[in-house]
Amino acid sequence: MSASVPIATMERWARKCLKIAKNCGVVEPLPCEGCGARDVFAHQLDLNRPLIVKWLCARCEPCPRGATVDIAMLAPAGAGAR
Ligand SMILES: [Zn+2]
Repeated sequence: MSASVPIATMERWARKCLKIAKNCGVVEPLPCEGCGARDVFAHQLDLNRPLIVKWLCARCEPCPRGATVDIAMLAPAGAGAR
């Protein structure tokens, strides 16, 4: 379906979807699934389903180079990102 879309584009799209969902209150960050830490990253398991995420902290993160989103970046406007 998305075979012709570069992975980087898919990742950007997936992150944007997650950010919007977070801002709308559709997705709420949960404590780390591994240890319960509150400092979590969203791991998008499937870029075609950007809202299906696993919340893990940096220590429990199984694959550091996976599609992750810092929740700071998901904060509503005014967070001062960038
Ligand atoms: Zn953890």
